[in-house]
Amino acid sequence: MQEKSFFSLESEVAVITGGASGIGLETVRRLADAGAKLVIADLQDASSLAEEVGGIFLKTDVSDEQEVLSLLQTAREHFGKLDILVSNAGVFADYKLLSESKAEDFDFCYSVNTKSVAWGLKYAGQFINEGGRIINTASSAATQGVISLASYVASKYAVIGLTKTAALELAEKNIRVNCICPGTVDTPMANEGEGDYLLDAEKTLVPLGRICRAEEAAALIHFLAAKDCDFINGQAIMLDGGLSAGISEKTFEKLSAS
Ligand code: NAD
Repeated sequence: MQEKSFFSLESEVAVITGGASGIGLETVRRLADAGAKLVIADLQDASSLAEEVGGIFLKTDVSDEQEVLSLLQTAREHFGKLDILVSNAGVFADYKLLSESKAEDFDFCYSVNTKSVAWGLKYAGQFINEGGRIINTASSAATQGVISLASYVASKYAVIGLTKTAALELAEKNIRVNCICPGTVDTPMANEGEGDYLLDAEKTLVPLGRICRAEEAAALIHFLAAKDCDFINGQAIMLDGGLSAGISEKTFEKLSAS
């Protein structure tokens, strides 16, 4: 009897943006282990990672429409096809109340976090094969407000809107589009700046008592990228250890004791 291989990506070609660090890096490793051929796109050099997984690295600024077009075109030319796009590259914002926000705060977050996703979706129909899959990285901040993070929150809410719209438009080509909404993930992004006290607060609030590991976000991306889950389309999937479900008894006790 032939051995079944669940969630295999054997002979599939995937582009991962933001693949040099954090969630993207773990996704590169995981999809490579599942058999995919990889194109890593990032502003930061990831050539040695590409070599490690037998893929290629293309230096790309995903906020630039022409660079995203050229990324998808080159990926397809290099491997002869393209099955999966993970639009994951992103930037965080400086903590700032809305009353102190400037146009450039919104422009920065919007051009990297939102437009990059839009360009990937815009050219997907041209370069991704019928039956392809697209996974965008939104955030749990795409489902609720966060004090002092309006530009980031707004840029991620838009990713859910783009995901749902593209799922409708690309259904004609049988391309599925979903996004993931992680709470805080232990990556360089989460550990930069003045976020320490927020990390501690989140550990108290999350029912599972910890933040997400990058490998766990990569696992959800893999799940959505695999053909095993071909009926999931147009969804924004929470990955927050139960935070959006409510307040656990342990959290309640901790809060009342403090
Ligand atoms: P990270 O900083 O470790 O990785 C982000 C990667 O994106 C970096 O390699 C960076 O060089 C790249 N990048 C940034 N701007 C780019 C550009 N213009 N063009 C190409 N590449 C660019 O962060 P991460 O935590 O792995 O973040 C990955 C995604 O997950 C982001 O979209 C982020 O908003 C989202 N996210 C992160 C968290 C978290 O707590 N870490 C939570 C929810 C969502």
